[in-house]
Amino acid sequence: MFDQKPFSTTQVRRQNRNRVYRQLTATWEPITKQDLATQLSMSLPTLTQNLNELAEMGLIDRSVTTSSTGGRRPRLIMPLPDARFAVGAEVTSRDLRLVAVNLRQKTMAYQKQDLSFSNTEAYGVHLAQLIETFLDENQLDREKLLGVGVTLPGIIGPDQSTIEYAPTIGVHTPVPCRFIRAIPYPTRLDNDANCGGFGEWWNRTDQQSMAYLSLSRGVGGALLIAGELYDGVSHRAAEFGHICLHPGGRLCECGRQGCLEAYCSSARLSDDLGISLETFFQRLEEGDLQCQAVWHDYLEDLATAVTTLHTVLDCPIMIGGSMSQFLPRFRTQLESRIRELDPLSNRTGFLTFCLGYSRSVCIGAATRFLYEFVSRL
Ligand SMILES: [Zn+2]
Repeated sequence: MFDQKPFSTTQVRRQNRNRVYRQLTATWEPITKQDLATQLSMSLPTLTQNLNELAEMGLIDRSVTTSSTGGRRPRLIMPLPDARFAVGAEVTSRDLRLVAVNLRQKTMAYQKQDLSFSNTEAYGVHLAQLIETFLDENQLDREKLLGVGVTLPGIIGPDQSTIEYAPTIGVHTPVPCRFIRAIPYPTRLDNDANCGGFGEWWNRTDQQSMAYLSLSRGVGGALLIAGELYDGVSHRAAEFGHICLHPGGRLCECGRQGCLEAYCSSARLSDDLGISLETFFQRLEEGDLQCQAVWHDYLEDLATAVTTLHTVLDCPIMIGGSMSQFLPRFRTQLESRIRELDPLSNRTGFLTFCLGYSRSVCIGAATRFLYEFVSRL
């Protein structure tokens, strides 16, 4: 027998409120109370009570009536996407991206600037000032701010205050994060690729399990399994960049040889050739032989990596990071190579590309707060 505790009245009320809010925000379309009650199979008095609570929290508007003529016109219930928002801050060794996203995950404001990173209190004070200016300049109401999600290109400890390993920002052994305390709002420190994957996953209506392969200067990933971000036993899950692709091959930033990152980093197409990514793809289009040779090898390595991931995980694989804005036009080539590598799998529809492009990570960092808010509502 299961020893199941009965739900308390408060829990049941909260569950009902959550159901009402999720139903409203599944489409974000205005709806009458009667239609909503039918959709939810909820009694009108219970629904009214929940709507009153949501209105008190400023999450819905009921001031507009339907345009139907004759008789009393019913009021429309409209969920308000701007009722809350969260800020995402993507920190890399050389720049900072800030974004504000509303409850509908729409971007309210965005900016990118050069900023050299250092794990110091002084950097934290400067970052906090930049966030204040960002809020002011975009007239964002601090009362509605759920929190600030900050990402780093590295492994974050379970206490959320230790940077365990982040070679691209010079951290090779665990150190306390010294900069985040200066931000005077609820904060969370996260891995960049985990956030990128999380944000894209939340944006998908089906929200089925998926793997996210982030291809930028660093190569990382995220695993979203059964509605949760799978973090691993020691918070190192989905470090796809350090799967060994070529034993004894190119040296990776991590010190090992032959890692996927050493082959599929965007640096292989830019820094290594002394050009920008944009220039690389322009030259490729113009038929530059050197670029064509490098690109052939890149696609070969990427196809191998994607096939390996799909063989293990058997779920949709989304490619994100800065490469995701260039790769979609090479989808046919990539998919045909994947089919050659894995003839048993005729389905290549598992491969998708992220929508947020270079903003995915900071949008995802903010999305973590939206998710928490909606979960606990
Ligand atoms: Zn490596």
